[in-house]
Amino acid sequence: LPSLPSSSTPPLANTTAFPRYSGVTKFSQLPLSRKTKDGLLQSGYVEMTEIQRASLPHALAGRDILGAAKTGSGKTLAFVIPVLEKLFRERYSAEWGVGAIILCPIRELAEQIFEEIKSVGRHHSISAALIIGGKEVDLEKDRVNNMNILVCTPGRLLQHMDETVNFDCSQLQVLVLDEADRMLDMDFKKTLNDIVSQLPKKRQTLLFSATQTKSIQDLARLSLKDPEYISVHEESV
Ligand code: ADP
Ligand code: MG
Repeated sequence: LPSLPSSSTPPLANTTAFPRYSGVTKFSQLPLSRKTKDGLLQSGYVEMTEIQRASLPHALAGRDILGAAKTGSGKTLAFVIPVLEKLFRERYSAEWGVGAIILCPIRELAEQIFEEIKSVGRHHSISAALIIGGKEVDLEKDRVNNMNILVCTPGRLLQHMDETVNFDCSQLQVLVLDEADRMLDMDFKKTLNDIVSQLPKKRQTLLFSATQTKSIQDLARLSLKDPEYISVHEESV
């Protein structure tokens, strides 16, 4: 995939930035692994939604993303697919420590994301764990160190970063902040700052929210590097 200098990138999604992918509407037309393509098909996904069309070419090219689109527009796949592809391309092994962290505000949402990873990622030998509390933190300690993808609520992840011996995210490839606006509304700002400040700088970050606010901009400045700004207003599934 070609990558563009940011100075020529307008603030809104611009598919002409990627001429190769400008009329592309189906997942099968993207440069994805066979494993991901099969997982998408078997999960019933064929046509991309607007936010997926606008963001996936950039995310797959390794760019950071600041994406805004309303609830129900398909943001989960807009980050699950790049996470799976990145770890697959890097031939990611659990021995390296955690490869991707996905943060979201509440447990139920983490569970939905986890199910999507299991479904779309069914052919990958990539492991994922939910780190959402509700049980003894000790019970999570093995998983937190032996999984490729952690789907977490912020408080619980920070607890592991502080308390779990050998918790290693020095090889982290991708950080996802999902429903970032809601995480900020729930007063996770300091927790998020504490987490992000402990993560390796050399990583890809994908930030999604339903709205674009001043506090989202602040979080973006802290966590994203030269992001592609993508804002989608219409729904089109
Ligand atoms: P958001 O995070 O933007 O609120 P979700 O990722 O939860 O949206 O997706 C909302 C619903 O749309 C889910 O039921 C999901 O399975 C479905 N969906 C997402 N992408 C597609 C697609 N490309 N084709 C068909 N259904 C989709
Ligand atoms: Mg969502």
